[in-house]
Amino acid sequence: MTAAPRIGVLAIQGDVREHMRALELAGADPVPVGDARGLAGVQGLVIPGGESTTMSKISVRDGLIGPLREARAAGMPMYGSCAGMIMLADRVLDARPDQEFIGGLDITVRRNAFGRQVDSFEADIQLDSLGSGQPLVAVFIRAPWVESVGPEVEVLGRLPCEGAPDTIVAVRQGPLMATAFHPELTGDLRVHALFAGMVRQAS
Ligand code: GLN
Repeated sequence: MTAAPRIGVLAIQGDVREHMRALELAGADPVPVGDARGLAGVQGLVIPGGESTTMSKISVRDGLIGPLREARAAGMPMYGSCAGMIMLADRVLDARPDQEFIGGLDITVRRNAFGRQVDSFEADIQLDSLGSGQPLVAVFIRAPWVESVGPEVEVLGRLPCEGAPDTIVAVRQGPLMATAFHPELTGDLRVHALFAGMVRQAS
């Protein structure tokens, strides 16, 4: 048996514990990462859901934003859910003017895109990359959506929309993956297992 991939969960803010648990159940060896030293010790990184403005502020204050960008540029696999998707996007609409990002995904996302009146909701999403016909129950909480993607980006999942083109809510570009929703909250481990496989393959 190959060793479980050591996957960090960025532990600045957000639902760190839920990702740690999902990764562990998906066969990875998760560790919380709060500084550059911790980051150097992992093979992949999950950026949890939470609040991207707070993650930005603290990672700048603690000098972590540079090491995060360097690790990403060096090819470390990263998966971001919700606020984590925002952190990995190259272009963010409705960001705070001073907000900093890791970047790397050639996508344009809009923060809080679904509007205040629908703060959170669940929907069934078909994620073809999961390889099974079963739809995934996706939980959206003040979620972003993806407004456009560059040519290298693979769209993994769309949210069926009435009267409009289906909204892109899951993407992958090489070692980077992001979902606008929170698979860490449902007990469905397929997205975490997919990411663990990406990390295993890259290592
Ligand atoms: N709206 C949050 C942000 O902009 C994301 C919400 C979430 O991660 N559930 O960062």
